[in-house]
Amino acid sequence: MRQPLVAGNWKMNGSAESIERLLDGIKGSLDTVEKAEVVVCPPFVYLSDVRRQLTDSSVTLGAQNVSEHPAGAYTGEIAASMLLDFQCRYVIVGHSERRSLFGESDSQVAAKFAAARAAGIRPILCVGEVLEEREQGITEKVVARQLDAVIEEVGVEALADGVIAYEPVWAIGTGKTASPEQAQEVHAFIRGRIAERSADTAGQVRILYGGSVKAANAEALFAMPDIDGGLIGGASLDAEEFISICRAAV
Ligand code: PEP
Repeated sequence: MRQPLVAGNWKMNGSAESIERLLDGIKGSLDTVEKAEVVVCPPFVYLSDVRRQLTDSSVTLGAQNVSEHPAGAYTGEIAASMLLDFQCRYVIVGHSERRSLFGESDSQVAAKFAAARAAGIRPILCVGEVLEEREQGITEKVVARQLDAVIEEVGVEALADGVIAYEPVWAIGTGKTASPEQAQEVHAFIRGRIAERSADTAGQVRILYGGSVKAANAEALFAMPDIDGGLIGGASLDAEEFISICRAAV
């Protein structure tokens, strides 16, 4: 059985004060979440504060990005070993904003996935098509290319304890959500492609949906057989909304 996971990607939002309030809200209602593993991914500079505030809480710490390099002259970058120093258990790699705004390639994302795993951190690999690609009918081709780059780098079994997030780019931050059926179709495709190489891995890997998930649509999305939770952007900045989404993951 795959435990559902709901991860909040706070992106470049918040302040020391607002984050403390947000965490108080999340911790205060956490006992109403029955099944989901709850992860929060703050901006790097708040990892230490958040870790302290999460002491004795079951919320797990994650980060939003990681360098593919272990150490060295890479100004502004953060190594996986550094994230581990702050007890980060997860790190998002290949978010569409990193791919489109910062030019991250499939091979760079694969190298980040490998670097995280080498340090003992579970990568959350984001894949997904832009609107034009969906309209051209090449969603599966795009997702397969993004996924295969990682499989070629680390081998299929490495996905078993990792996480994949299917995030149609046209649904991120737009208020447009993929329908549960549209999302399920791509999730099933991803799991099927992994199963062609390893049925065990396909059964174990958690595949999250991301893209304008809210309390109002989470239940229907999470009820789909291949959707194992969500990667939540905007709605993760509101404690009540985020906890409602976590509660919907069963
Ligand atoms: C995201 O950035 O990963 C995301 C899913 O954002 P939002 O929920 O705001 O669409």
